[in-house]
Parts: sequence; C-alpha cells; structure tokens
Amino acid sequence: MRQICLLGATGSIGSSTLDLIRRHPGELTLKAVTAYRSVDELVRLCREFAPELAVVADPEFRESARRALSGTGVATRLESGPEGLLEAVALDGVDTVVAGIVGSAGLAPTLAAVRAGHRVLLANKEALVMTGELFMGAARESGALVMPVDSEHNAIFQCLPRGSADGAGIETLVLTASGGPFRSWDAAALESATPAQACDHPTWSMGRKISVDSATLMNKGLEVIEAHYLFGLSQDRIRVLIHPESIVHGMVNYADGSTLAQMGTPDMRTPIASGLFWPRRLPAGVEPLDLVKAGTLSFHEPDTKRFPCLALARRALEEGGTAPAVLNAANESAVQFFLDGRIGFMEIARINARALDSLPSGPADSVEAVLEADSRTREQVVQWVKAGPAGSDPNRQPAD
Ligand code: NAD
Ligand code: MG
Repeated sequence: MRQICLLGATGSIGSSTLDLIRRHPGELTLKAVTAYRSVDELVRLCREFAPELAVVADPEFRESARRALSGTGVATRLESGPEGLLEAVALDGVDTVVAGIVGSAGLAPTLAAVRAGHRVLLANKEALVMTGELFMGAARESGALVMPVDSEHNAIFQCLPRGSADGAGIETLVLTASGGPFRSWDAAALESATPAQACDHPTWSMGRKISVDSATLMNKGLEVIEAHYLFGLSQDRIRVLIHPESIVHGMVNYADGSTLAQMGTPDMRTPIASGLFWPRRLPAGVEPLDLVKAGTLSFHEPDTKRFPCLALARRALEEGGTAPAVLNAANESAVQFFLDGRIGFMEIARINARALDSLPSGPADSVEAVLEADSRTREQVVQWVKAGPAGSDPNRQPAD
C-alpha cells in the first residue's frame, strides 16, 4: 500500500493522480493533499478521500478553507502556508510524494520529500532545474527514488537498463516535443499570439504555465536540463526532436545501433502510474495505442530561430551554477506577465535572453544561493516590464 502526499492536488497532474488513486483503492491511499487557493476543490477532495491532512498553501485562504471544511463532518486536519506544505511531506506514514506543484513554489516541499528518502514522483521540473546537483545529491544521500513523471523522462527511464550504466553503451537520449500550438506559425504571427492561443495545446491538456512553456519551447529547454540531471549525460548527448503526433515520448540510442523508444497514447496517467507502481505495471485507464489509427509518425529538427528558448536553456546548462535558476525565474515571471496580458508572446524569449545576458550567475552550492538568484531575477524582470519591451534594450544581443 503506497501512502501518498499529493502536492498540487487541484492541478492537471493532481487530477490525473487522483484518477489513479480512485482506480486502485487497494494499492494507494491518499494521506495528504495540498492546493494553492482552490478552497472549494480542496474541500471536495477532503469529502471524497478523507485524507489526514489538507494544506492550503496561501495563508490568506486558511480561514475560508477552515469554514468550508468545518461543515463537512470530515476529520481532515487543515494547515496552511509553506510550513504546511512541509508538514504534508513529513506526515507520519507518507512514503510517496507526487510533486505536482507548478514552478519554484514547489521547490521546498519537493526537496524535503527527496531528503526524507521518499519515493518522489517528479512532475515539478522547475525544482530540479533550479537546484540540479543539490537535488540529485540529496537523493543519493537519502536513498530517495526519484521517478520522472515528465512523459519524456519517464519514457527514457523505461528505455534505460536497470542498475549500472557501465557497459550499457548509451550514446544519446532523445526527448520528443509536440512543437506546441505555434509549430507552423511565422515569426510575425508569433509576436501577436494571445494567452488563449498559447494555452490551446494540440496534444496534451495541462496547466497554463506549462502550456505557455510548450508554446515557446522553453518547456523542452527545461526538459533538457532536467534530463541532464536525472540521467547524468552532457547536453550535447541529449537531442530534441519535434514529433507533432506525441506518440513516441522518448528514446535511447545505444552503441550497437539499437534505439529503444517508449510509445503510448498521450495521457499523463501512464507516466504517473509507472511512477507509482514501478516495477509493476497496473491499468491506468489509458486508451491503448493503435498505430494504424495514429497513421504517420513524423519527426523533425526544432527551429531555434522562431523558438529561441530551447537554445537559451542549453546555454544556461553550459554556464552552470545559478544560470539555470536565473533562466527559470525569468521565464516564470515573464510567462505570468504574458498570461496577465502585460507583454507579448515573443517578449518571453527576449526577457529570458536578457536575464542570461545581464544577470551574473554564481555557484549553486546552497538552496539559499539559488533562491537568492531566483528572487533577484524576478525583481529585475519586474523592472524591465515596467520600463517597456525588453526588445528595445540597445545592449541586448539577439536571443538566438
Ligand atoms: P496546474 O497549474 O494545473 O496545477 C498546479 C498545482 O500547483 C495546483 O494544484 C495549484 O493549486 C498548485 N500551486 C500553484 N501555485 C502554487 C503555489 N504558489 N504554492 C503552492 N501550490 C501552488 O499545473 P500542472 O499542469 O499540473 O503542472 C504541475 C507541474 O507538473 C509543473 O511543474 C509542470 O511543468 C509539470 N508537468 C505537467 C504536465 C501536465 O501534463 N500537466 C506534464 C509534465 C510535467
Ligand atoms: Mg514533458
């Protein structure tokens, strides 16, 4: 029986996880749930699953959550704020943490889960991008099993040999990308793309932040960094291929000419089920793959001229230290400004480039140093947005 703490229970990863918990009551117990501000949804989950602990991460919403919960007769204890998230991870009996919070807000509880030696289903890629070596070092020390939930990384995990990589002959890893909703848009059209268009993903249904990241290809950039830390290969051995059908999720190329690929209908319940049950495979409610119905599978190189963010992520990884955290913070901040209608779509890439160009990176040798770089970057992005389009900065180098 896995005893689960579900961080980000009200999100897209959260709802796919809950679906699996409903399907496997004899295998999975929901011990703790967290949400940011969606009080009604959180209370609905408490009624359905009666977890021991529910956490509303924004303390401003604690009182309304308390009132909503008090009338239900459910015995769930309520906590709030960042400390509440840490309590959820540390709850007695919890052995599995699904890290489904979006962005840097998930860093502290995800890292706490790793340090506690839990099985950690990692969806919150931003946490790993920010603290890469510290994160993987903590996992080695505690013995935590970090199960990648990102579909590409989960695919690669499934295609890698178990145990030692010595003599396994791994040459390169391939991450596939759908190309997002703007795959075939020209540069001029991209300038005026709207948040609604950016969030209308062709093959996956996801939260708004990752949907925008998929549209800019920043998501794939973050995933190259994620793959580097998870699997220990240098970035020149991590290839990205645009694959609009999203059927092949990831591949491993071996020295003898073999390529192992993991395929499936695009549905996040597959990688989450793999993370929850590994090494077993149990039903996940996913439509079986029908390759005849899928028809032609196509693959091509990404265009880093129209989508500069992928190249920026590779650059940040080469620079090392806090550079990935700087890029991640600039991006989170810029995406929020875009979703709020304050900046244009292509401004996201320009802000990200400007952050890497002008903000110094230092050693990422402590979480404090990383968080310092994160907040300094966010403050800077606010100033840039207030001052007008980043593209008008005369000192800025072209993003690509
Ligand atoms: P989402 O926006 O649907 O859900 C985010 C969850 O985090 C919600 O429960 C929300 O309440 C919570 N949250 C938001 N801000 C918070 C804060 N400041 N403090 C605490 N909690 C907060 O996002 P999602 O699509 O489920 O993505 C979650 C993570 O999983 C992201 O890192 C994303 O990159 C990754 N991921 C998602 C998918 C997918 O298919 N959705 C696929 C791969 C990876
Ligand atoms: Mg992915």
